[in-house]
Amino acid sequence: MTYDTIILGAGAAGMMCAAHCGGRVLVIDHAKAPGEKIRISGGGRCNFTNMYAGPGNFLSRNPHFCKSALARYTQWDFVDLVNRHGIAWHEKTLGQLFCDGSSKQIVALLLDEMERAGADLWVQSSVRDLRKTENGFGLQVEREGQRLSLSCTNLVLATGGKSIPKMGATGLAYDIAGQFDLRVTDTRAALVPFTFSDGKFNDLSGVALSARLSNDRTSFDEALLFTHRGLSGPSVLQLSSYWREGEAIRVNLIPDLPVFDLLREQRQNGGRKALKTELARHLPARLVDYLSQHISMSGNLADQSDAKLSELTAALSDWQLLPSGTEGYRTAEVTLGGIDTDELSSKTMEAKEIPGLYAIGEAVDVTGWLGGYNFQWAWSSGHAAGTAIAAK
Ligand code: FAD
Repeated sequence: MTYDTIILGAGAAGMMCAAHCGGRVLVIDHAKAPGEKIRISGGGRCNFTNMYAGPGNFLSRNPHFCKSALARYTQWDFVDLVNRHGIAWHEKTLGQLFCDGSSKQIVALLLDEMERAGADLWVQSSVRDLRKTENGFGLQVEREGQRLSLSCTNLVLATGGKSIPKMGATGLAYDIAGQFDLRVTDTRAALVPFTFSDGKFNDLSGVALSARLSNDRTSFDEALLFTHRGLSGPSVLQLSSYWREGEAIRVNLIPDLPVFDLLREQRQNGGRKALKTELARHLPARLVDYLSQHISMSGNLADQSDAKLSELTAALSDWQLLPSGTEGYRTAEVTLGGIDTDELSSKTMEAKEIPGLYAIGEAVDVTGWLGGYNFQWAWSSGHAAGTAIAAK
């Protein structure tokens, strides 16, 4: 069987690309259904893009690489598509756009667009062999117990990263890149919770608050959640993408709370309340209990000098912690790193040295922040490759 374009991976990027390629297109996936990560994303409502998406929200060895694709297919282009399909949506927070109904609507949108473009889809199909031929690529694919020989002019790698292997994530794109001598940068789990070896936060499991998490490179103000394994929540996931083993992180538990002034004011109003009780009006009581085992908080407000209150405020705003690791690919939302952007054209996503070979989506060394950015990269890079193939 001969196709103009074969796309490996029926995820966000692969399906977007298939909708734009033109010609005879086949999308191959080994999973039972297409777009499984879309289906489970955003708690079942898919945070499909971000109103503020721009190159500054992405990590890559070459931070300029993502600019062209993001500019040529923006978050508003995807919002237009969502509107055209009559899917209702809302902004949740920080520009994050979610479906009002279900993430399955986004999968249906992509399948609809693929069908309109006349693209074929094979699920539960696996690539067994792949070779470069004179005019393109030759593949052996196993489908329904049969081994089929396929050929194509364009081959698009869209099999994503390694996160959540239980959902079918594999390193296939990296392996194929390696086969064609394309460099792959170091990959690691990102947007992932931190773990602490000693059950440090067992007593705090379930406590959540707004916090500022930072290291020497960056900082994020979002929710923080204590778990029996360690720390999670948006601020933690964001910082994990910028964290390396052995590094300490800093937690500001009171980023927008003038605790020193509030406590002083209460002290002036009589100060007969226990310091801990007063603090628990501003921070979760279980957290105050926990912190009181490490920071002196005894006595009533009236007993606290300015120096004592300022010491306490400093401790609450700069709590240094040393994670022992992360939960790894098992729960990571994305993979940091991937096919080196130096190997690809930023306009077309085509490999510079292997005409006809393309890489898009999470398989490439472009990783977004939490908040709809990773899907936006999948849409933009899929669109860039698809339209470049159509223009050939
Ligand atoms: P994927 O969507 O992962 O698609 C890759 C496809 O390739 C899959 O269908 C897979 O089955 C297939 N495949 C893999 N290996 C093989 C193989 N060997 N043979 C054949 N097929 C193969 N991002 C956001 O922007 N917003 C969110 O709300 C959001 N929520 C998320 C929630 C979770 C739990 C997770 C894990 C991720 C979330 N992400 C979110 C990240 C987002 O899902 C990914 O960045 C995005 O799906 C990447 O798109 P992709 O097409 O490159 O890869």
